[in-house]
Amino acid sequence: MEQNPPFPSPEELRSKLSEFMKSNFGDKVSFATFAQPDTAEIGVEEKPAKDDHDEFAFAFLPRDITAHLDRFVIKQDEAKKVLSIAVCDHYNHVNYLRQLEKEDAARAEETEYAKQNVILVGPTGVGKTYLIKHIAELIHVPFVKADATKFSETGYVGGDVEDLVRELVQKADGDVARAQFGIIYIDEIDKIAAAGNLVGRDVSGRGVQTTLLKLMEETEVPLRSANDLQSQLQAAFEFQKRGGKTKKETISTRHILFVVSGAFERLKQQVSRRITQGQIGFNAEPRQVMDNELFQYVTTQDFIEYGFEPEFIGRLPVRVVCEELSADDLYKIMKFSEGSILRQYERAFRAYGIEISFEDEALRLLAGDAAKEKTGARGLLTVWEKLLRDYKYYLAGSGLTQLRVSTELVREPKQVLERLMAEGTKQEEAAMIQHARMFAEQFKREHNLAITFDDAALQLLLERAQAERMTMPELCAHLFKDYQFGLSLVQKNTGQGSFVLPRAAVEAPDKFLSELVVRSHYPLASA
Ligand code: ADP
Repeated sequence: MEQNPPFPSPEELRSKLSEFMKSNFGDKVSFATFAQPDTAEIGVEEKPAKDDHDEFAFAFLPRDITAHLDRFVIKQDEAKKVLSIAVCDHYNHVNYLRQLEKEDAARAEETEYAKQNVILVGPTGVGKTYLIKHIAELIHVPFVKADATKFSETGYVGGDVEDLVRELVQKADGDVARAQFGIIYIDEIDKIAAAGNLVGRDVSGRGVQTTLLKLMEETEVPLRSANDLQSQLQAAFEFQKRGGKTKKETISTRHILFVVSGAFERLKQQVSRRITQGQIGFNAEPRQVMDNELFQYVTTQDFIEYGFEPEFIGRLPVRVVCEELSADDLYKIMKFSEGSILRQYERAFRAYGIEISFEDEALRLLAGDAAKEKTGARGLLTVWEKLLRDYKYYLAGSGLTQLRVSTELVREPKQVLERLMAEGTKQEEAAMIQHARMFAEQFKREHNLAITFDDAALQLLLERAQAERMTMPELCAHLFKDYQFGLSLVQKNTGQGSFVLPRAAVEAPDKFLSELVVRSHYPLASA
């Protein structure tokens, strides 16, 4: 890979920018006057330095965390428990170390501790990310997620992995202190296992393991990536603001909690094989291990055989299995999780003036369909989107105000949609006719002249309002703007105070009115 030239130091960059400004804009505009005002004005956000870590104080019990998770995550009880304990252990230790640092820095430095980094095993879409995200929210630490495959693609680019740490700072709104207690979640970790023991294959996977290992152990990551122009510019501005003094800008990964996850499909067969083989000679009667139980038997050795470096897997002492979700679980997710997708659809339809509601049996059917997708709770998104996409499109603005998701709707979505659209149109038309009648009544109240539309007139009003995309009150006000004047003339001439307006009055209102006026003036002539 071609290497870029090394990025200039903040000072070099500042002088290069200064030259650039001068050569382009002359002596009047200089880099100094550009950069001197408050950095906020030039889009460089600067947070007050937060070097004391006192803002972070962890005070949760494992059961507080599981209680919070129960609100959102259905099932995965074992994972909730194990994660809650690991998180409490981790942050309690952080609390302890920080206290110790104040009292006896040397002892704090020497204190040994095996970090409670976690490896989460389980198929896709069963809540692995969701669990960690909600934990991070509850305890108020920043959280970033990435796929391990992103790193293996680029091979040995250690910088990429370090970006995760810098991203934590962004997530913490620039608060480095808080970022240092964040959680980094790396999915698809199984994809960076070197395949079997084949030497020389999947070198990049091993490379990524090594770089990740460094982060998980303890290292200082530069706050600014050497490849990121914007942050280098920011460094140059700040360098200048501080009058040319550089400040140490690194993030320590010592207290960052790492969670890695993956489906580890091959692992099941591997464990199954080991258990069966192991039983020969030990047990007379081989014990049957259920498919979903297999992961409980996973050992460090299994992970190493799978293709992980012993040091890497050794840094992940907490192992958790997330179970597959059944159709019944998916039903419960829709029905009971606070993050249920149903809330999303309620909001989406409400925006179009439609109240959506759900029949339990319909939810059961959809849960069954979603389970067939084999993508965990993600299957729910797929089936709902497929079911309701056309509904959103055609019912928005259709005049319909209620939508009930029934079993019939789930089974025959096309027919039900057609019926609802017809119904919506009927409702809307009825409302428009009603508005035309209201116009007539108001006309009577205001001008003491009774007008009514006959059926043919109403029908044409409806057609015109639809064709001309006008509301009924707008259309009537426009068509009959001269009627107050005209009809009162007629009333003066003939004494007539009530008028039935036929289709012709809607077709050509002015012509109809003037004929009426003329006739009232020359009753004999028109006769
Ligand atoms: P993964 O296990 O692949 O990390 P996610 O946690 O990202 O899957 O799940 C995707 C989405 O599915 C979540 O955002 C959440 O809405 C829903 N979901 C998944 N599992 C559960 C669960 N056990 N309970 C409630 N919702 C879930």
